Amino acid sequence: MQPGRQEDVLLKTSIFVNATESELINDLTNRFYDPDPNDIALLKQLERTPATFAALSAAHPDPSFISRLQHLIDERLLVPATLDETGEFIPHRIDIETCRQCNARCQFCPQSISPKSPDVMPRELFDFILSALDGASPEWVALNHYGEPLLDPFFRARVDALRARQFPLNLFTNGSLMKDTLCDFLCQGGLHGIVFNFPSLDVAEWCELMQLKERFYWNARRALERMLSVSETMPNGVTISVNATTNNYVARIERLRQHFGQFGPVKIQWENSNARAGAIENRLVHIESPRTEKYFAGCERVVGHLHISWEGKVYLCCQDYDQKVVLGDIREASFGEIMSTGLARRLRSEIFGLTAMSGNLICMQCNKLRIEKFPG
Ligand code: SF4
Ligand code: SF4
Repeated sequence: MQPGRQEDVLLKTSIFVNATESELINDLTNRFYDPDPNDIALLKQLERTPATFAALSAAHPDPSFISRLQHLIDERLLVPATLDETGEFIPHRIDIETCRQCNARCQFCPQSISPKSPDVMPRELFDFILSALDGASPEWVALNHYGEPLLDPFFRARVDALRARQFPLNLFTNGSLMKDTLCDFLCQGGLHGIVFNFPSLDVAEWCELMQLKERFYWNARRALERMLSVSETMPNGVTISVNATTNNYVARIERLRQHFGQFGPVKIQWENSNARAGAIENRLVHIESPRTEKYFAGCERVVGHLHISWEGKVYLCCQDYDQKVVLGDIREASFGEIMSTGLARRLRSEIFGLTAMSGNLICMQCNKLRIEKFPG
């Protein structure tokens, strides 16, 4: 028996484990693995029927099975059956709403029908949030909740504050306000990546979709070309996020790829714009059929992604446009306390299928909510 291994402890599959055809994922640790069919079969089995290490290794004495079993335990894909996981949370990704308004009115975005006020997060609060995150090592921090971060008068100071703490910035922007001097500033370091919301190379189509004037198109296009030329300095490079669910989306993507590919390695992300859990519904938005299930299979948002409003409220996720599902206030409690309250535990319990989903939770209208943990 290996030191520290408890052979007679019942093991179950962690509620945070799920798989796609190409990946086995642990939402809590934010780790990704090749989906070995034997591992998946075991995880499926232990999800329904916990078993001890001793019983499993007796049934499969093959050393390679025992080493795989130990690997699943070490990676926290298998956990003690008695463990309550509903209070668990690790902030791998952090959205901070530094400013609320956006200069665009993209037709596929709730800002186009219900624009947010021009409020800005006070600098002191931003600095307080970063100090409250001391000890965290997020993969990235973004400065959005549907606002355009370049409208923030303190944008550069915030980027410097992130750099000082070595929190990588993942900049989501429409790029329309990005001047050359700002590109130079961003090139000085601290970027995880940049995601440009740029739905079409065609200037008239871009202006119509984003409801912005032509000069903003040329600003954004120039900034994109410029940042692509230095994209290899960022771990996640430059991504073009292609929104608006139209019949011509394949042609739009191809034109974007051909043009911007000349400037550097470009990633194109087709968004199939969703209804933002019911916040916007029109012909440019893909609308899911209403959910009829009661039990669901999880969503990484409530386990690894922190969302903080301009006032310091911690809310459910980016799909919660109006920030109605509030978990707590960073001015009154620590992140650890906020993310393990009774409400946070109840939400995880419902989202990860331990209990039936309440009919009125916005997740019921969200296409990110998984129906199955192990498809196929
Ligand atoms: S999609 Fe982005 S750029 Fe467009 S209106 Fe919404 S927040 Fe602004
Ligand atoms: S399922 Fe949708 S609404 Fe619910 S937490 Fe996940 S992303 Fe947010």
